[in-house]
Amino acid sequence: MTTSAYIDTTAGQSELTIHDPADGSVVGTLPVAGRDEAAAAVRTAAAARAAWAATDPAARGKALRAAAAAVAEHAEELARLNTRETGKPYADALGGVEAGVATLEQYAELGPVHRGRSLRGSMLAADYTVIEPRGVAVLLTPWNDPVAVAAGLLGAALVTGNTVIHKPSERCPHTGARLGEILAPHFPDGVLATLTGGPDLGAALTAETDVDMFAHVGSSATGARIARAAALTGAHVIRENGGNDPLVIDDDVDPVWAAQQAALGCFANSGQICTAVERIYVHRGIADDFIAALTAEARRRNTEDPLGPLVDGRMRTLVHEQVEEALRLGATAAEGGAVPEGPGAHYPATVLLGCSDRMSIMTEETFGPVAPVQVVDSFEEGLALAAAGRYGLAANVLTGRIEHAHRAVAAFKAGTVKVNAVFGGAPGGAAQPRGESGSGFGYGPELLDEFSLVKVVHVGLPQTRDAAGNRP
Ligand code: NAD
Repeated sequence: MTTSAYIDTTAGQSELTIHDPADGSVVGTLPVAGRDEAAAAVRTAAAARAAWAATDPAARGKALRAAAAAVAEHAEELARLNTRETGKPYADALGGVEAGVATLEQYAELGPVHRGRSLRGSMLAADYTVIEPRGVAVLLTPWNDPVAVAAGLLGAALVTGNTVIHKPSERCPHTGARLGEILAPHFPDGVLATLTGGPDLGAALTAETDVDMFAHVGSSATGARIARAAALTGAHVIRENGGNDPLVIDDDVDPVWAAQQAALGCFANSGQICTAVERIYVHRGIADDFIAALTAEARRRNTEDPLGPLVDGRMRTLVHEQVEEALRLGATAAEGGAVPEGPGAHYPATVLLGCSDRMSIMTEETFGPVAPVQVVDSFEEGLALAAAGRYGLAANVLTGRIEHAHRAVAAFKAGTVKVNAVFGGAPGGAAQPRGESGSGFGYGPELLDEFSLVKVVHVGLPQTRDAAGNRP
């Protein structure tokens, strides 16, 4: 088995060398910013804070709109870089850049109309709220959809008047650095900086006392570290972290359609999506037909329509360790489950049967193309198992019964619930993740609130005197 062959993120590195996970070839090398550069970037962002905060919101929106257009012009270049660094299939990578452009455009429009409220006080007073930027915002982003995720945070942070330091993932620093180069010229000096580096650089930034806010999209373990560090500096934190999303399948749905949904949820982007389906509870009434169809879906992907590689050898090792543990504890592999020969970090679409909550494949996030299945005797049993666990990002149910759908919506302790479609949803849908999946709004119009502070203002009537000392 190949282990850690592509990227070593151990402490003390001065450079990041990125290898293409499809074939191991070198994509490039970038410097790692150290503690001093982190401190200097925060000083620069802090110095630019007041002027950017005082810039008219309409002007900030205009700058962001121009920046979005520049990203659109470089969409193919960014998508190619993303594919080379992380193995994300090119069409998906391009879709991610396009989604990022759309998000930048949305925030360019929403920013200038984001506003406070007028309050009802006494007739002879004015009472209202104003919103202000938080100040210096540090954005710590992941590799699995690097442009779309970063663009959302960047757009919302910048248009609300924050100065920003973005640290993209150490697994795709070229994509992040290039995005920064394209965006930065559209803003005044000091308003946007991009630093490349790994967890050490992220940790150095979280120790800086002049940072007002951290926005982290990434793993739950990292999110918890950031929240602890920010508790010492007083910075505001939002965390959009990992998930272990369940899929409950009722006995009245078409098992072939359910298998297609499950396969899409488990295997898209080789399972490296925060809201991927991570564990399946299928009703015994349709289990045999469902399993046969799901196994066929996985086999088709392994023969006719191969998945892209995992992001690197380290990730493949982690995924395979979870699969091996499940097999040791009694699961069987109906399809996949073995590390293939050859270069790159490929892993097959895998279907595991006989899974249970003794296995980490059912209780932890698995960032790989694995569909672990547990057969349940009733919808209620599936729902109870699905609602358990430490994560609360999203949850799925396939059912023909409206009552079961409503019960699932109420039972899932998750920010997002999807009924009869494992992906999809209206634009602007933003939720607060629960449990170890994070806290705060990481998307949608509410993200503008996260990057803002509200001030309540009460203006009373003054008492004045004329030149002779008389009250008018
Ligand atoms: P990660 O947490 O390892 O890395 C994300 C960012 O945090 C990177 O820039 C990294 O360098 C930085 N970082 C690492 N250690 C740090 C520290 N101690 N202090 C400050 N910053 C630090 O996550 P990842 O592996 O890049 O991404 C995959 C994870 O992200 C998965 O768990 C996935 O579910 C999650 N994710 C969640 C969402 C969501 O919206 N909930 C979206 C995409 C990805």
